[in-house]
Amino acid sequence: MTTKAVIDLSACRHNLSVAKQAAPDSKCIAIIKANAYGHGMVQIAKSLTDADAFGVARIEEAVTLREADITKPILLLEGFFSEEELNIVRKHKIDTVIHNESQLQLLEQSRGEAVSVIIKIDSGMHRLGFSPKELKNISQRLEKCAGINKPVKFMTHFSNADDKHDEKTLKQIDVFFQSLDDVSYDEISIANSAGILGWPQSHANWNRPGIMLYGVSPFINAKAEDHNLKPVMTLSSQLISVKPVKKGDAIGYGGTYVCEKDMIVGIVAIGYGDGYPRHAKTGSPVLVNGKRCSLVGRVSMDMICVDLSEQPDANVNDPVILWGKGLAIEEVAESADTIAYELLCGVTNRVEFKYID
Ligand SMILES: *Cc1c(COP(=O)(O)O)cnc(C)c1O
Repeated sequence: MTTKAVIDLSACRHNLSVAKQAAPDSKCIAIIKANAYGHGMVQIAKSLTDADAFGVARIEEAVTLREADITKPILLLEGFFSEEELNIVRKHKIDTVIHNESQLQLLEQSRGEAVSVIIKIDSGMHRLGFSPKELKNISQRLEKCAGINKPVKFMTHFSNADDKHDEKTLKQIDVFFQSLDDVSYDEISIANSAGILGWPQSHANWNRPGIMLYGVSPFINAKAEDHNLKPVMTLSSQLISVKPVKKGDAIGYGGTYVCEKDMIVGIVAIGYGDGYPRHAKTGSPVLVNGKRCSLVGRVSMDMICVDLSEQPDANVNDPVILWGKGLAIEEVAESADTIAYELLCGVTNRVEFKYID
């Protein structure tokens, strides 16, 4: 059975070049956490030769990259959480975010080699980061701390940048720059993909593109092609059954879809066991033989059902695309009440991954 995810590495490199062109004076930390948003972290890292650095969330991800001979700077976005992890950071020369008091204390108490850090400021998202009013105090401690390379860098992260009309983003930029009045620093980092493409005020020494590298628009109500981004993952499968059903027949678990007319239904070998979202609604778009048709009924673990009324000649084994080339993942995500990030991260290891360049 050929349920597969084809990963187009040249599309990923193209998307990085879009990030670089949008902010030509900034360097790029290509964000490849969560297995490169489901695309395969090591393969993506090896193909992004133009990235200036890589960003991951967990220390295990950083170690995996080093063990795969990735020598570029790696930024650990959530930092370390024990002396042991701090030693791994040192051993593998990983740059680390410091966002809380206990991380700072670990560094102050530790006797090892100095590490390169970027201090995260909470400019309004209220997830990770020091509050701006703590910074004066923290800055004094940073200066005294022998375990930290100087000068220290600073960063912040946006909560609402996916909405170009939300003024929260400009407020966060203001709060961030105001808080820097209290510290000495050399380099800073603010922008994620939405910042890079929609908020030029946020471009800084280091930008942090994530979702855009995978060919997805970071904005609500927008598509990749609006920004000249190309989809990297194409998820595909095949028809495994084609059959006529009668008006009034109910299809799939729970019989939630009842045929309004006699029609032809195709069964596709993909389901939530592969990462296709169970909450995709009847009407969600699916490409069969390159032509759009609609999902009908509930998504099962291994299968979905599609309405083939417009394609009476479709046959078992015909190709089906769930998202990617020819079908925007943003559209599928919306139809499943989620975001493309989650769909991409959720493709399971039953799916065969194939890399093309
Ligand atoms: C995930 C992440 C990014 C990338 O965000 P996108 O919206 O995918 O571009 C940037 N910065 C931080 C701190 C992140 O956690």
